[in-house]
Amino acid sequence: MAVSVSDIIKQQRQFFATGKTKDVNFRLEQLNQLKSAIVSNQSRIVDAVKADLNRPEYEAYFEIASIAEVNYAIKNLKSWVKPRKVPISIEQFPASARIYPEPLGVVLIIGPWNYPFQLMISPLVGAIAAGNCAILKPSEIAFHTSEVVADMISKTFDPAYITAVEGGVEISQQLLTEKFDRIFFTGGTKIGQIVMEAAAKHLTPVTLELGGKSPCIVDSDIQLEYTAKRIAWGKFINAGQTCIAPDYLLVDKKIKPDLLTAIKQSIHEFYGDDPQNSPDYARIINQRHLGRLAEFIKDGEIVTGGKTNPEDRYIAPTVIDKVSWDAPVMQDEIFGPILPVLEYDDFTEAIAQINARPKPLALYLFSKDKEKHKRVLRETSSGGVCINDTVMQVGLTSLPFGGVGDSGIGSYHGKASFDTFSHEKSVLQKSFLLDLKWRYAPYKGKLDLIKKIIG
Ligand code: NAD
Repeated sequence: MAVSVSDIIKQQRQFFATGKTKDVNFRLEQLNQLKSAIVSNQSRIVDAVKADLNRPEYEAYFEIASIAEVNYAIKNLKSWVKPRKVPISIEQFPASARIYPEPLGVVLIIGPWNYPFQLMISPLVGAIAAGNCAILKPSEIAFHTSEVVADMISKTFDPAYITAVEGGVEISQQLLTEKFDRIFFTGGTKIGQIVMEAAAKHLTPVTLELGGKSPCIVDSDIQLEYTAKRIAWGKFINAGQTCIAPDYLLVDKKIKPDLLTAIKQSIHEFYGDDPQNSPDYARIINQRHLGRLAEFIKDGEIVTGGKTNPEDRYIAPTVIDKVSWDAPVMQDEIFGPILPVLEYDDFTEAIAQINARPKPLALYLFSKDKEKHKRVLRETSSGGVCINDTVMQVGLTSLPFGGVGDSGIGSYHGKASFDTFSHEKSVLQKSFLLDLKWRYAPYKGKLDLIKKIIG
């Protein structure tokens, strides 16, 4: 690399110090430029994602969905940047109090390989909207997309304002030795811990968008066909390499045979007799992940799928029944096209099983029973919940997206992105009109008054 990481940061700090990014019109201009860059690079992005993941063109367009984030920010930015007036208490009178959102400074955004464009660009929208300078570090594993991101960013922005640094773990580690004003990391839980540890040395705040095993509970009183389709779609888009894919099914015993038949049928409808020949089915990112996933197919009883072809980085959409909670496939996030199925007799027990494990990024419930909806919302904790569908919750700019516990810290999308990359500065403004004596010494005779005020 021609310029060192610390030089880039130094240049960005100088750029930030000019105050340019504090101007809302400057931010809007940059967001519009980002939008134009995405639009004009659409086909390159789609090709790169295809080269990395063999993602069908239709699914590759999910990457372009970052435009929805840009549009939302452009539409709302002028209201987001406004200081918000808050009430004051009587002892402050006369005064006013406001919250001023201010940019943090220079931020670092580290991304994963599974949605390699979108997961770089969506956080960047928040960083720009909030008035920061940013360094992006795309995943080296999705290297075609990394190249497109770096090229697009370098042609769109002054590197002293926004730049992308390509590279693998060493570059990430180098970046992490530096002080930033926020690190926004999307990736696995273990690397998230490394990031947080490095950030702690500089007291850098972190947003960690991590993964985990997102359960999908299926009650007996469902619309069978829709349920099966929605599960099969959410699990097998991008060949299961989606952070909020339903990781495993927890199905009411009574409906299990029918559900498995319907899921099998949905897979057939989506991908035909042999999904390997389907133009609509993606591939596993690399041999390492393929090898890891192939081991899981040895657990339980295969309902459908099970075929692997390492040369083609192919694993068939696979459903496995009769899996136990102790099976290897149930220990860590699967992150591939394998759907283990567990059953329950008793809804309370299903909830207890979920609660015995780390808090997931997403939790899915298919049920018509409003009581069960309420119970799941009240009795479990997860980054988000989607009732009677899968994955669709991520597309709403009005809903913050993020994990809780092991699945992450902080959130983004829409206004939450702006908040994540802003500091809320509290400002109390007093007046010279009046100066009540109740707080000054000598305190004699004032105690009763202060007791009443604090009351
Ligand atoms: P990863 O954690 O392996 O890598 C993410 C980034 O961290 C990459 O840019 C990589 O270069 C960097 N990195 C890797 N090792 C590092 C180290 N030792 N020190 C510093 N940086 C390092 O994740 P991945 O395999 O790219 O992505 C898969 C994971 O990401 C899954 O767990 C998935 O659930 C999660 N994910 C979460 C979300 C979300 O929004 N919550 C979205 C997508 C993926």
